Amino acid sequence: MASNPKNNLSEKLELSKDFLEFVLNTIQGVVYVYDFNEKKNIFINENIFEATGFKAKEIMESKSDLYKASIHPDDLSHFEEHRQALKNQEGISQIEYRLRNNNGKWMTILSRDLVFKRDANGEAIQYLAATTDISEIKLANDLLTKTNKELLYKNEELASFASIASHDLKEPLRKITMFSKLIKEREEKTISESSNYNLDRIIVSIERMQQLIDDLLEYSEINVSEIVYVKTDLNLLIEKVKLDLKDLIEEKQAIIEISNLPNLEIIPSQFSQVFTNLIHNAIKYSKDSDLPRIKITAEQIPGSVLKHFGADDKLMYCKIAVEDNGIGFPNESAERIFEPFKRLHPKDIYSGTGIGLAICKKIVLNHKGFIAAESEIGKGSRFYIYIPCQEK
Ligand code: ADP
Repeated sequence: MASNPKNNLSEKLELSKDFLEFVLNTIQGVVYVYDFNEKKNIFINENIFEATGFKAKEIMESKSDLYKASIHPDDLSHFEEHRQALKNQEGISQIEYRLRNNNGKWMTILSRDLVFKRDANGEAIQYLAATTDISEIKLANDLLTKTNKELLYKNEELASFASIASHDLKEPLRKITMFSKLIKEREEKTISESSNYNLDRIIVSIERMQQLIDDLLEYSEINVSEIVYVKTDLNLLIEKVKLDLKDLIEEKQAIIEISNLPNLEIIPSQFSQVFTNLIHNAIKYSKDSDLPRIKITAEQIPGSVLKHFGADDKLMYCKIAVEDNGIGFPNESAERIFEPFKRLHPKDIYSGTGIGLAICKKIVLNHKGFIAAESEIGKGSRFYIYIPCQEK
């Protein structure tokens, strides 16, 4: 006997309705259909019980809007406005609100809503809402935002503290220097040799302290200085640095070889500072026996091989190497030399405050890059700067 096509169709419809209900009750989150004319949920999946303690049937059969009754009072007007606005909207629109769960606690819900049924005049009849409990994400996000804010505040506080302290320290120091020099000028001939010697030591110490304060100021002010990224030809930038260091380069007869460096989107003044510090160091820490020879090269490498620095593996990085043939340093100190005021060589032989490489590191980090060094005593040093090629 031939089957009745009408029966067949309704069987199929029944099957797809069962299937749909099965899917809707399997997925996570509450899904409901709200009818604007009946002013209630005409479908709601079983997850509603776990979420609010109401059974789906209870909500659908209730005369009042039980779902809405579980929404936080402070979010109700926002929810209602959104529901009314939905009537005139095409496509999905989102809303966040708090819903009371079956333990009486508030959870944050993200709902993606869509009017899917309209009458012949285009009036909205029903909308579908697919909700997700985002309480944990929200909590984690809120915590992250709060921690970030605190961190920013602490950083600013620290920078301004360093800056204020340094500025305030400069004035009394300037006076001590002035009076010490005055005593020296006027009394040099009348005071004893040992007092003269001590006075000289005081003046040298003060000058060193002034230098330390200036360096500290420079270090603390890197982030507040003007930040303008400019596409820059590194070859030209280093040529300018060489001009600034002309006297030192000539005095030490340093040879600087630059091989075809790229254009990079950088803060030029900050990068000049980086190369000034690196080249200056390469000359300062050169061997007495050899003329300083500095090689600056560049190559591109993928972020995936720089994972140990926390590099972005989707980016290409430009690796700039500054190599010298100087006295070197023990390789186990390769990380520590970037710490502020960390010095490996005696200050009576090599002048300096130990802030130069810390400044380099801060600048390179500002450019979302990394800096590293390797060396061996007596075998020269190599400094590597990694900067994302495509990004600021
Ligand atoms: P400073 O040179 O003022 O001491 P830096 O921060 O520039 O400070 O360098 C920190 C330390 O790293 C130096 O004191 C030195 O011991 C070591 N250093 C830096 N550059 C080199 C280099 N090119 N060769 C050998 N040692 C270096």
